[in-house]
Amino acid sequence: MFLSTNPFDEDSLKEECGVFGVWGQDGAAASVALGLHALQHRGQEAAGIVSDENGTFHTHHGLGHVGEIFDDPAVMEKLRGAAVIGHTRYATTGETSLRNAQPLYADFEFGGFALAHNGNLTNAQALRNQLVKRGCLFRSTTDTETIIHLMAMGRPGGPVERLIEALQAIKGAYSLVALSEGLLIGVRDPYGIRPLVLGRIDGGAYVLASESCALDIVGATFLRDIEPGEVVVISKQGVQSLRPFASAPSRFCVFEYIYFARPDSLLDGRSVYESRRKIGTVLAEESPVEADLVVPVPDSGVPSAIGYAEASGLPFDLGIIRSHYVGRTFIQPTDQIRHLGVKLKHNANRPLIAGKRIVLIDDSIVRGTTSVKLVDMLRKAGAREVHLRISSPPTAHGCFYGVDTPRREKLLAHDNTVAEMCAFIGADSLAFISLDGLYRAMGETGRNAAQPQFCDACFSGEYPIRPTDAGL
Ligand code: AMP
Repeated sequence: MFLSTNPFDEDSLKEECGVFGVWGQDGAAASVALGLHALQHRGQEAAGIVSDENGTFHTHHGLGHVGEIFDDPAVMEKLRGAAVIGHTRYATTGETSLRNAQPLYADFEFGGFALAHNGNLTNAQALRNQLVKRGCLFRSTTDTETIIHLMAMGRPGGPVERLIEALQAIKGAYSLVALSEGLLIGVRDPYGIRPLVLGRIDGGAYVLASESCALDIVGATFLRDIEPGEVVVISKQGVQSLRPFASAPSRFCVFEYIYFARPDSLLDGRSVYESRRKIGTVLAEESPVEADLVVPVPDSGVPSAIGYAEASGLPFDLGIIRSHYVGRTFIQPTDQIRHLGVKLKHNANRPLIAGKRIVLIDDSIVRGTTSVKLVDMLRKAGAREVHLRISSPPTAHGCFYGVDTPRREKLLAHDNTVAEMCAFIGADSLAFISLDGLYRAMGETGRNAAQPQFCDACFSGEYPIRPTDAGL
């Protein structure tokens, strides 16, 4: 799929990315490549690294997976410097995408500046239109570049002042890592929609990462989450914490726990794995069913299926085997390939399935393609009954904050009841965790309707930040 003329078109895939930065380590680029590798699940289309060698900046970007882009020793050799940032991107495909690879780099009066962004801005198109009228020449179609131009048009100042001033005009979801001479900067938007964590290697180099699993891979100790609305500036003076934005209630994305983050990550004080398991427990309490076996859709349904099995007392087993040599089916751009992808990825474990009543657990239903194929596959493998249980509420609304969702009309839950969805999928029964049950699984007493503790817009349709570019 090529970029539409409007890069913020609802149907164009939006960024869901991983960011990583290291300050104060000789040869930091190698650690950044490792960190990006651990964040590969957050984006597989393109990756890039920018290094600061005492004010001289080196860059390398490529299309594809981190391991392929940074496997050349000559490339790594070029990325000299003790402060380095990187980005892994998930977005549109096609020839135009290399220019959208991040980190973005620009030369300012104060020197070089590189920026990597996870999230999606909700007023970037409007700002971009104004900036273009004022003569700004955009080189990419990413919303992130808007920040760079706002910085360039802003009041004179250093990188931190200019970045903060630019962000005052920005709305939406952003976890940023930025690099300027001698400085590593980390920012989380006032609602803290996307994650960003701080770590340290052996009491020396500092690390910023989208998820804590990327700290582990470079031997860094988790120090803390960057707070919503916080700007951290890491330099020879240590870590300085700034609070330049008006405070807003934290609305971390609950879908990070359900599907997006790696289960071995700790985000905002919660283990992703344990959260998923607890969701499975609540799902079993809310929607029990007489069955013989609990089977997860690998890998996304595994922790919740363990929780479901524990709470229901049913045995858990791997009734579907996953090939590890295909990517996530969702990233394939056409429906036809997406259909094929499901078959490439999963196969029924026949001897286990034959003659049994199966509870099949997956994390979400988007278009329904995966569920239709898997239910059919289990029936063909001899399953007597297939009861589908989903560890999220129905995904009925699009995400404008950085998780890739198709147009609302393509979401199965958008205009179908649960019974209709069940008929479409061909399951014997279908149930989703309730929105309140999800909050209880997350350790809350329930969903605070006046002030929900998470961003759950994809389920509730309540957007904490108005998606103005989308006309909502
Ligand atoms: P679908 O086949 O369109 O219903 O997609 C559902 C499958 O896609 C589920 O098995 C999920 O694990 C996975 N999925 C859900 N949301 C996303 C996302 N934002 N990016 C990639 N995969 C996803």
